[in-house]
Amino acid sequence: MSPHRPLLRLRVRVRGTGGSSYPVLIGSGLLSTLAAHLKKTVPAHRYFIVTDRIVARLYGKRLERSLRHAGLDARLRAVPAGERSKNRSIKARLEDWMLALGGGRDSAMVALGGGMVSDLAGFTAATFLRGIPFVPIPTTLLAMVDAAVGGKTAVDHPRGKNLIGVFHPPRAVFADVSTLDTLPERQFRSGLPEVVKSAVLGDVALFRKLERAPAAFLMRHPAALAGLVAACCRIKAEVVEADERESNLRAVLNFGHTLGHALEHLSGYRLLHGEAVAVGMALESRAAAAAKILPSWDADRIIELLKRLGLPTRPPQGASPARILAAARSDKKSREGELHYALPRRIGRMARRQGRYSIPLPDSLVLSALRHS
Ligand code: NAD
Repeated sequence: MSPHRPLLRLRVRVRGTGGSSYPVLIGSGLLSTLAAHLKKTVPAHRYFIVTDRIVARLYGKRLERSLRHAGLDARLRAVPAGERSKNRSIKARLEDWMLALGGGRDSAMVALGGGMVSDLAGFTAATFLRGIPFVPIPTTLLAMVDAAVGGKTAVDHPRGKNLIGVFHPPRAVFADVSTLDTLPERQFRSGLPEVVKSAVLGDVALFRKLERAPAAFLMRHPAALAGLVAACCRIKAEVVEADERESNLRAVLNFGHTLGHALEHLSGYRLLHGEAVAVGMALESRAAAAAKILPSWDADRIIELLKRLGLPTRPPQGASPARILAAARSDKKSREGELHYALPRRIGRMARRQGRYSIPLPDSLVLSALRHS
């Protein structure tokens, strides 16, 4: 097989507001044929490519050259790498840059990078001239399996993450798994919890595949990775299609996130998002077992798989159960009264209470589960 032929082709359909639908192309070496895909799928007068400085050096400059070589008007802008660039003032600078270059409604925004870049560039595309087409090209595992698909875009605020943003579904997503070769090990691993989450919430076959041969994924074999990204995108597509605006079902994507976000915050963001979600899933699985929602052998299997993938399953030193719950309470997902969780009832199925996937649990039960974890 040609290394540049997409290994898999997946079309995601989101029929939420406006009945939008977009393709997700997954392959190895896709970047080198991107010009042809863009011309066909997202024709535009000008392509603004937003990336970060690390990804610009690795892939951005080459991508800009290859688009220009194919006759496309492509302009690249690199922001400093890291979450700190996901803010309103960098968004304003991108807007100034696009306006100075004469960007119009016939322009398109390409986001080349991880979830930071796709959230920032996606939000910029959403508000530029009331919205221009947005094309994420995710280069981290987390962005391929989660951030680039689903249409959520945002920037952070000093008061919290993702506080200012909109839903702006992409026009197309191109995931080139060969870009994962250069991803540092810790960044790569921190994408795996979202994969485990996808498997737990809707794909027991994927869960078994991960259990049987974690090494195939950890060694980043392109075919294994493409299959895994496709499986996760399919699950996310199903969920997003049914509930684009997060009114009920989309809450299942928050498995591990009620306590995970709290831990991420408590660690002062020293824990990567994925690492915090891994611990969050382990703790929430224990809580679900204590609440008799999830059989305890399934909770054990989830925790064992996270361990085999080299992920943390216990809170860091200093994060006592009471502090974790207090931090979770200040998170935006908490409601008055009891904290809400997205919990599995078995591997491959999420639990519902009175038709809702967001389930309240008493703090006393969660505290006791955390103390015994
Ligand atoms: P990131 O975008 O900050 O990337 C992590 C690091 O990896 C950066 O230093 C980057 O320069 C580097 N990098 C990226 N691709 C690389 C490659 N191929 N080779 C070498 N280095 C590379 O972080 P992330 O983990 O991808 O994403 C986290 C962000 O995603 C957070 O802001 C989070 O809020 C957001 N997110 C959004 C959604 C959503 O639905 N919109 C979902 C999950 C996460």
